[in-house]
Amino acid sequence: MNTKQIMQIFEDTAYIRTGGSPEELKTAQYLQGKVAELGLQAAIEPFEVSMATMQEAVFLADGEEIPCKGYLCAGTAEVEAPFYYLRGTDKYSLSQCKGKIVMIDGYMGYWIYQDILENGAVGFVTYDGNANYTDWDIDQRELRSYVHKGNRIPGVNINTKSAIELIRKGVSHGKIVLKLEEYMGNSHNVVLELPGQIPEYITLTAHYDSTSLSQGAYDNMSGSVGLLAIAEHFVKNPHRYGLRFVWCGSEERGLLGAKAYCSKEENLKDCVLNINLDMIGCIMGKFIYCVTAEEKLCHYISYLASELGFGIDGRQDVYSSDSTPFADQGVPAVSFARIAPQNTATIHNSYDTVALMKGEQMAADIDFIIAFTERMVNAKRCPVAREIPDNMKEKLDNYLCRKRPSK
Ligand SMILES: [Zn+2]
Repeated sequence: MNTKQIMQIFEDTAYIRTGGSPEELKTAQYLQGKVAELGLQAAIEPFEVSMATMQEAVFLADGEEIPCKGYLCAGTAEVEAPFYYLRGTDKYSLSQCKGKIVMIDGYMGYWIYQDILENGAVGFVTYDGNANYTDWDIDQRELRSYVHKGNRIPGVNINTKSAIELIRKGVSHGKIVLKLEEYMGNSHNVVLELPGQIPEYITLTAHYDSTSLSQGAYDNMSGSVGLLAIAEHFVKNPHRYGLRFVWCGSEERGLLGAKAYCSKEENLKDCVLNINLDMIGCIMGKFIYCVTAEEKLCHYISYLASELGFGIDGRQDVYSSDSTPFADQGVPAVSFARIAPQNTATIHNSYDTVALMKGEQMAADIDFIIAFTERMVNAKRCPVAREIPDNMKEKLDNYLCRKRPSK
């Protein structure tokens, strides 16, 4: 795949494609078409996801309406209560949540939700965007089922500039009205198999969905293009191990595509390694690996990079991407990414477009990942131990909210 073809794919997919939407399915079909151009046939595999249509979302602060987006999957509800800004999660600050609509910094994650619920919050507000940008964009968020586990309180997301205004003015009272229709829908994984000489597989993954404001060029059409280029390479080149390519849907909604794929035993039974691509080929920044497997793989990758003359940094850790469900099922996994400095490229907003991408950098990043994959798929025996070390098991427990990370 040349740089022109790579950049063309970013142009072709310059639209928003959230998990479970018709646009996401359109992208799945587009990827299937790209695979067909290689003379191969990829399957589109549906899996169920919860969906919601917001009919009404209102947030009043001291009687004044603040532009907001209601949390999907938070249920239909109306609350009116004192407004409280939770600045930190120390015991005292949390104890002030009782009976209030609570605004927090950052994402509504699992532990913070449990904390505010236990402390009696009746509604919540999050904010996103950047106070220094001119846009008034508001991301569409959802209260994920593994976060609320049936205990739902209504919430809204607002722009950062509104949030600052609320605190500057000293707003004391809030009201949230949410009305939404909830139903089940489908998201899709696109799966391609290239059988090898032995009945064992290496599975490559990249998600192709985006968040609500984002064209997702960098996050993660870049990785999806990488998978296409790797497939193109191995159509023409020998590989002892079989290769499976999975373009995952609904990653941004909580790794749902990879979780659906990994929930099928036959998909993992003969899988010796997962190689995941999430955000590569941007103009600025450094290339990294994140290994959720034995630490030896870190050394192998950095030695290989030196040998090939490719700059790389990395660590043994859990990566917030589709590699995690594989590792959680005992499949050693590695994610590759080029991480841009925050002031050069950001994600999950309207600024993640083709403007962040560079065709030559894409090609160079893909070449390195092919070189690594080449060695693994042609190994007499895949050298990575098919087990997850204890330190990574603990990180997986933290990441997947089974165990609270120590502060
Ligand atoms: Zn991503």
